[in-house]
Amino acid sequence: MHKDLVSNSSLFFKAAINGNWKESEEGIVRLSEDAPETFDIYYKWLYFGKLFVEFEGDTTYTDGKRTSNKLLPRLTTLYQLGDKFQDHRFENAVMDALIDSVTELKAYPVGQARDVYDSLPEGSLYRKILVDFYVWVHNKSWYVDTGDCETGPREFFFDIAKASIEAGSAAYAGDAVYPWVKDRCQYHIHPEGSPKCTQE
Ligand SMILES: [Zn+2]
Repeated sequence: MHKDLVSNSSLFFKAAINGNWKESEEGIVRLSEDAPETFDIYYKWLYFGKLFVEFEGDTTYTDGKRTSNKLLPRLTTLYQLGDKFQDHRFENAVMDALIDSVTELKAYPVGQARDVYDSLPEGSLYRKILVDFYVWVHNKSWYVDTGDCETGPREFFFDIAKASIEAGSAAYAGDAVYPWVKDRCQYHIHPEGSPKCTQE
């Protein structure tokens, strides 16, 4: 892996490579916790600027209906990797893939609240979009069938309550446009001083 390429993109690797870590002497950064296929997607993204997640390949059909897909949990894993690597451009790429996927699949990453809240910090935009899915899509069965109700942290349901109050009746309007459709940039990380998507 080219040091310049990765350390320009990821603050984690920048520190690992330029700092006094054991890793910087050896030129090896050990990533034993991360699944190789997750890292492989990051690695390819660095080189090709494209997120190689398979839309169809990760989707299974039962009776012609798309029933389960591995794509949404995989995007969560990728976002967690981006957070760990402090690579906001990668996180934004994963967020875009998530928004494209839910729009196309009409399926949402539910049942992941515990995992997401445990792994991503307060203020994480991945937490925010998970909450907004609950607030705007209003699928009652998610509270029953997905495991979120048993395992989801209190904080998650507080966040849903707060966001519901803020959204008010707009979230129930017949012609409501989902916030991630209206302005996906609000789910992006753009550090101070760097342009937002609309200004680029
Ligand atoms: Zn943006």
